[in-house]
Amino acid sequence: MLKKHIATPSRTKEILNQYTFSFKKSLGQNFLVDVNILENIIKHAGIDKSTGVIEVGPGIGALTEQLAIHADKVVAFEIDQRLLPILQDTLQDYDNVEIIHQDILESDVREVMSAHFDPKQPIHLVANLPYYITTPILMKLLREKLPVSTLTVMIQKEVADRMAAKPNTKSYGSLTVAVQYYTHAEVIMNVPKSVFMPQPNVDSSVLKLTIRDESPVHVEDEAYFFNLVQACFGQRRKTLRNNLIRYFKETHDKETITELLDTVNIDGSRRGESLNIEEFASLANAFYDG
Ligand code: SAM
Repeated sequence: MLKKHIATPSRTKEILNQYTFSFKKSLGQNFLVDVNILENIIKHAGIDKSTGVIEVGPGIGALTEQLAIHADKVVAFEIDQRLLPILQDTLQDYDNVEIIHQDILESDVREVMSAHFDPKQPIHLVANLPYYITTPILMKLLREKLPVSTLTVMIQKEVADRMAAKPNTKSYGSLTVAVQYYTHAEVIMNVPKSVFMPQPNVDSSVLKLTIRDESPVHVEDEAYFFNLVQACFGQRRKTLRNNLIRYFKETHDKETITELLDTVNIDGSRRGESLNIEEFASLANAFYDG
């Protein structure tokens, strides 16, 4: 008899009962139970039989199974030891899946990738991320500049909106600038709570991040740039000049700050949220002195 896909409510319940598995809220375990959503994600991610895929948090294998069907190879990082025997069972029909029992935040992902993928193969990351650590996971993967082409991830709607935001909107902040420095970010779709088991408390969206070949701006020092951007959003209702005065209080007097703002033609009475990434870069480069 043909087995049902893992990503259905009945098969998921069956697997959970068989293994008396109880969800760990602390690990962000909300499993997907809708094959259509998964196929849609995979289509948008640009997965085909030539591609390798990294997955974070396979759970009982709902997304992993669909990835195994559509991709050449899947390497999935799972932290919860209890899921390993389950995955061995649920994914036994697929010989192109490798489960790595590691915390993604601690893992040397580059090393794992070079051990499991053909270096010439295009690699994509696809995941229904554990919501409690969405931002640390994405920022780690972006900062490490891994050889992946895209990251297509299910995350909280609010965080997806922040990552894909435009200047002068409520969602625009230092996270937007950091993510858009490395990628082109777009929200692919909003997803109803009903496709998860158990249902999460927050709304979800699928976000696609396409890695840029080159960052859109030149910055003298990335860490310095990101810190300065964060400082410009420090107190959102304050002007840019006041946030900078606060940030540079040990090193720069007010006059120097005004002069530097003038050199790059940025009006200090603006708010940080009105600056685009090019303006943040010229500001950071003007203040940076090696
Ligand atoms: N992919 C499955 C699905 O869509 O049904 C499960 C997604 S669930 C939202 C998140 C998964 O990430 C869980 O399986 C959880 O155990 C795992 N996880 C949580 N923290 C992790 C970490 N630091 N490293 C690797 N996996 C993690």
